[in-house]
Amino acid sequence: MYIFNRITVTPQLPKRIDNLGKIANNLWWSWNTEFLKLFKEIDIDLWDRVNKNPIKFLKLVSQEKLEAIAKNQAFLKEYDKINGHFEGYVNSKNTWFSREYPNNKSNLIAYFSAEYGLDEILPIYSGGLGILSGDHLKSASDLGIPLVAVGLFYKNGYFHQKINGYGDQETEYKTIDGTTLPIQIVKDKNGNDLIIFVKFPKGKLYLKVWQINVGRVKLYLLDSDIDENLEEYRCVTKTLYGGDQEMRIKQEIVLGMAGTNLLKVLDLNPTVYHMNEGHSSFLILELIKTIMNEKKVSFDIAKDIVGSKTVFTTHTPVPAGNDIFPLDLVEKYFKNYWTRFGITKEEFFRLGMKPDAIIENSGFNMGILALKVAGKKNGVSKLHGEVSRELFGEVWPNIASNESPITYVTNGIHTCSWLAGNLKDLYNKYLIPFWQDSIYDNNIWENIKNIPNEELWNEHKKRKSKLLELVKDNTTKRLKRNGYSYEEISSIVCGLNEDALTIGFARRFATYKRATLIFRDLERITQILNDSKRPVQLIFAGKAHPADKEGQDLIKYIHEISMKPQFKGKIFLLEDYDIAMSRYLVSGVDVWLNNPRRPMEASGTSGQKASVNGVINFSVLDGWWAEGYNTRNGWTIGTNLEYDNYEIQDNNDSESIYMTLEKKIIPMYYNKEENDFSNNWIQMMKNSIISTGGRFSTARMLVDYTKNLYMPLCDLTNKYYEDLSIVTEFNEWKQNLIRNWDDIQITRRRK
Ligand SMILES: *Cc1c(COP(=O)(O)O)cnc(C)c1O
Repeated sequence: MYIFNRITVTPQLPKRIDNLGKIANNLWWSWNTEFLKLFKEIDIDLWDRVNKNPIKFLKLVSQEKLEAIAKNQAFLKEYDKINGHFEGYVNSKNTWFSREYPNNKSNLIAYFSAEYGLDEILPIYSGGLGILSGDHLKSASDLGIPLVAVGLFYKNGYFHQKINGYGDQETEYKTIDGTTLPIQIVKDKNGNDLIIFVKFPKGKLYLKVWQINVGRVKLYLLDSDIDENLEEYRCVTKTLYGGDQEMRIKQEIVLGMAGTNLLKVLDLNPTVYHMNEGHSSFLILELIKTIMNEKKVSFDIAKDIVGSKTVFTTHTPVPAGNDIFPLDLVEKYFKNYWTRFGITKEEFFRLGMKPDAIIENSGFNMGILALKVAGKKNGVSKLHGEVSRELFGEVWPNIASNESPITYVTNGIHTCSWLAGNLKDLYNKYLIPFWQDSIYDNNIWENIKNIPNEELWNEHKKRKSKLLELVKDNTTKRLKRNGYSYEEISSIVCGLNEDALTIGFARRFATYKRATLIFRDLERITQILNDSKRPVQLIFAGKAHPADKEGQDLIKYIHEISMKPQFKGKIFLLEDYDIAMSRYLVSGVDVWLNNPRRPMEASGTSGQKASVNGVINFSVLDGWWAEGYNTRNGWTIGTNLEYDNYEIQDNNDSESIYMTLEKKIIPMYYNKEENDFSNNWIQMMKNSIISTGGRFSTARMLVDYTKNLYMPLCDLTNKYYEDLSIVTEFNEWKQNLIRNWDDIQITRRRK
């Protein structure tokens, strides 16, 4: 972009390559990264300067460079190939969904989430929940599932992390500039910015709408930072998980209620609504309101209809994991709702409470609202399903808690977003052609066996070497900023060793993840890391929520440990963990360490990213690993025991870490015979990839959601919604049942 006086001139794409702009505006490129290589060809310096952002690139590139490249035959050949892939992908009529559900073309699933982790240039995510939402959209697109998504546009994004010389976390917010990102403002019929609103106590809150293309799927983000708004409303959507409870209730009203309304304004008519975590549960109230209006039915019937249209996924194993709003706050924002619904104020409040709750002592729990109304409810791993059934058992007091209606769909990852480029090329060579279309099929992964050990090891080494470069850069930059001398810094980064067994630990610094467990016995870990014949190095990364002091203390502790003489150059702490860094870590270390306090990790997904890259898991049998571990694809930490005492649990689990490292992991890694690598190790890498590639992908996850949750609800809605007399009959039958409940006994099944 050149600025002549005050006129802005954006370079014009030559006709021959004008689809560059169209593809750049679709995050399809975030998992088809060969597209991004085209920009390197055009102007490599600029590409580095714009931080790998294709939209920014196209605004700044010189017209001459564009004209020149449009005549470069080698470039054009590559461009045509990629353009062909893109067009073929977005226009394909033959998808998994169209083959499985030819009669459901007109159905639509609406997906709601507070955060989306799609690519590092869009920092509107904080951790696993967001990454999962992003991967959900990508796999829905791959499988051709008709899905539309709604979220919030956080201008501040999530914070960038700096760690100072004392190990303190410092937060930095950078404003996101929508005009240099692959997102567009949604316009109305007259070509003006589409503006919707939601009613707040002081007046309407107006929202602008952004659209992101994720392959075939569209994601709409609501943005309150517009002139039409009262000053105090402009910042409502500014910060992800920022602000007090009132800010949170405002954000959640925008997400759930304005979000639902937006889909109506856009003339979309979703059959099923999926609430990814409780932040969006207010959509239930918006739907009830709409259905009561449109169908002229009672609150009870409307609630049942909404039940048949909604899926709720819970992600937390702790009761306080959901937002619980004080009742006066709920009253402030939902003042006339009970009258409108024809119910009492108390009945309204009780929608967000367990049946036996004492109203004076309770708040309005977003998770309970969703659990009570949604027709399908699930946890995110088999174990988390069990934990959730117990945890929320009281929501259904007449049913034994292990029978409560919460099922599970185990989380996964979007394989092509997380698989390193060089490994993708390797898998292309040994897996069936177009394996990317059948990722969910476990059989296609069996061919990993055919990769020669040496070839797999060489590709792994390339990733390791790239990661160590990143570790060196990140560490150098951080220590320099904090006033360390050149000598000190180089004595530390010199310790990085490509031949050392490298263990990675990266995730949010939430206390239950126990980032410092491996340091419980400092004597023991000193010996392990300092064996000169069999060296081991540790790499840590992660952000703590700005309000989480305990999480920040963990960062400080690891910083301090890493500066002790016996650990210098052996323990590294990286700052500003994000999607980009995660990709390096999960493909560049040898072992992925995960030691949450069981059963607190609902699923965890970073280990799934690691295993598809041939990085071996060493993890507590919690979340997905309780299903994924098969004795031949990694190692476990601790046992399945339940502990009442954290002290004992930490002692036992850390002892298990040391034992397994000393007796199993280190000996296997260094058992190299005459090679550069250990054949047993590579066998375990392969077992890892084969046993998890399909099962723990979002491709498999979306197949499960579609078959077990989305389509049964679509069928219900398609069958009953037009003829409400059937719902009414059902409702009467149900009322009858409840009235006669005392005579009906359901008892807990004996195990
Ligand atoms: C995958 C990922 C996570 C989630 O990791 P967990 O194993 O669930 O803790 C968090 N943050 C980033 C940046 C990730 O890539």
